[in-house]
Amino acid sequence: MLWDMEGVSGLLTREHVWFWEPGVREQVAEEGRRLLVADINSAVAAALGAGADELIVCDTHHGGGNTRPGEMLSDPRVTYLEKSRGIQDGKLRWLPGLDETVDGFMVPGHHAKAGTAGAFLPHTWMLDWADFRINGQSVGEMGIEACFAGHWGIPVLLAQGDEAACREAEGMFPGIVTACVKRAVDPNTCEGLDAASARRLTAERVGQAIGKLRGGGAKPFRPALPMTVTIRMAAPQKAGAAATQPGVRRVDEFTVETQVGRHADVVKWIAGAGLDMEAKR
Ligand SMILES: [Zn+2]
Repeated sequence: MLWDMEGVSGLLTREHVWFWEPGVREQVAEEGRRLLVADINSAVAAALGAGADELIVCDTHHGGGNTRPGEMLSDPRVTYLEKSRGIQDGKLRWLPGLDETVDGFMVPGHHAKAGTAGAFLPHTWMLDWADFRINGQSVGEMGIEACFAGHWGIPVLLAQGDEAACREAEGMFPGIVTACVKRAVDPNTCEGLDAASARRLTAERVGQAIGKLRGGGAKPFRPALPMTVTIRMAAPQKAGAAATQPGVRRVDEFTVETQVGRHADVVKWIAGAGLDMEAKR
């Protein structure tokens, strides 16, 4: 379970989630974190109840660190990772624990990709990226993360978020189970289910997704290799900087492109996140 925060149950304003921005009130940011913790605990209980024998729960929002170690549902079957980068087998990597021993991948708390109309806080990784494409297909963070999981052939089971995020997931991952807990009124505000009802819906869908995995109805996201990865940047200077790296081609003023040979390398060339990472990044 790879948790982002924008798509969490009952979390309806920008101030709840982009807590690093100027003017954010501490009590609102704190309420956002409480909603995240409550949603994770509810989904984890649902997954265990549906028969998951082991769970790795990772907080990826803003690199992680938004959960409360003492407040998470404690169970020997669950491992909580407070950061999206960490050590596995002595090496620094993105999403430690995600490997061939994992049966299914879930992306709760997520948001739609950059440029999506009618979406709550749409973006892709960082605000510098206007569009991210794999073999010509425009994808957001769910697509990037699912592609990374695709390195080990891990199927994508569930997405949770606003209507736009769920639509994006359904378009990309046929057969995925979604939990649509809200809809954007404008890019900074949502309306939708109250937190408790949204958590109940999500818990029910987590159970369904695990049932579907058992039934063999879930597929990994594995674009054809080698993959052509293209990024249109928000500003030409960003494209210029990216194009100085070996193997990266400047397509036009805003756009850079490269080829990667493994699904696990989908963003390593541009964001440093992948396998065998250098410690300085
Ligand atoms: Zn986020």
